Amino acid sequence: MKIGILGGGQLARMLALEGIPLGHRFTVLEGAPDPPAGVASAVVAAAYDDPDGLAAVAAAADVVTYEFENVPADSAAYLAARVPALPPPGALQVSQDRLAEKRMFRELGISTAPFHPVDGPEDVEEAVAVTGLPAVIKTRRLGYDGKGQEVVRSLGEAEAAVEELGAGLIVEGFVAFERELSVLAVAGREGGRAFYPLTENHHRGGILRVSYAPAPGLAPLRAPAPALTPAPDLPRTSDLTPSLQSEAERLAALVLDRLDYIGVLAIELFEVGGRLLANEMAPRVHNSGHWTLDGADVSQFENHIRAVTGMPLATPRVPGPAAMVNVIGELPDPGAVASIPGAHLHLYGKAPRPGRKIGHVNVTARDEAAVMRAVSRVWELLPGAGELPMATGG
Ligand code: AMP
Repeated sequence: MKIGILGGGQLARMLALEGIPLGHRFTVLEGAPDPPAGVASAVVAAAYDDPDGLAAVAAAADVVTYEFENVPADSAAYLAARVPALPPPGALQVSQDRLAEKRMFRELGISTAPFHPVDGPEDVEEAVAVTGLPAVIKTRRLGYDGKGQEVVRSLGEAEAAVEELGAGLIVEGFVAFERELSVLAVAGREGGRAFYPLTENHHRGGILRVSYAPAPGLAPLRAPAPALTPAPDLPRTSDLTPSLQSEAERLAALVLDRLDYIGVLAIELFEVGGRLLANEMAPRVHNSGHWTLDGADVSQFENHIRAVTGMPLATPRVPGPAAMVNVIGELPDPGAVASIPGAHLHLYGKAPRPGRKIGHVNVTARDEAAVMRAVSRVWELLPGAGELPMATGG
């Protein structure tokens, strides 16, 4: 099929690289020069709201998907009127607004931190009465990687933060979580569903640094298996982690149902006292699922392509533990990374720049201790990476 993608960054690149072996051709809409996806797709060089650009992508595609959720609503509607646009634009709309997202979670019976909308300093007292202190004040729209948010510890700090951030905000109670997890769910056009094991995520400065999967402490492997050829009797991913895993899948399924969802959906969760609170969702392939390129027999990218093109989904099999280390700002020596057994380098073809995600390294090994050793070696090759976030193990 011919697949259009809004956005030509690393997610579009990895979607195309995983979709080409299935026989698909890709066209991306991307205004930035020399986009990462350009190596694997035709590029329509225009902004996401450019009518000619949108028309060109619609004309070149049997189905259109997105690599980011902040697609302008009019662009999504324009495309959806001409060609199947998946996930459905309604899912984009909800995920563009933290308030709508949290309200949806609550309507579905999914726990979240307490929250309250705020549009100016006059709303702060009421909001903080609901959320308690400390609290996190976030912009409702267009926040990413920790941008547009502040932790506040007093009413005065909250008022100052609201003055600074402006209107259209949400205040959330600060969650003293044990760890951050995410679940990736996939829904197919023909009704199939698949889930990846919960992943443990570590952020620094609001940016994902390291993921461990399956989230340690949840998923003891029942049978040893060689890394690349899982035995046919290996338990399915969803059998491995009886409690939190099945709870995460149940919550994700509620969201898939509500949004008539098709494609990969990521939900970021806080684990607190054995419970899961939903923080936010991403209606797309997700950084916390990059480990699936090497740690699962079918990646999130391939399953997303399967979903939006109407192929059957693949139930992911995960033969052993894996980790993903983001490469941010500066390139490590590729040869040095490649010399670490079990390390798989993925670079995005982006120019290094402080704070910019330019690649990731996946690590696979036979047990969690071996994964940690290899992750430590990768970490030492990353310039200025600071202290390594270790797996907490629940
Ligand atoms: P977000 O943009 O909502 O994903 O937030 C970025 C990061 O800030 C999260 O991954 C958490 O580490 C932290 N964070 C966000 N919301 C809260 C909260 N309500 N309580 C504690 N930490 C939070």
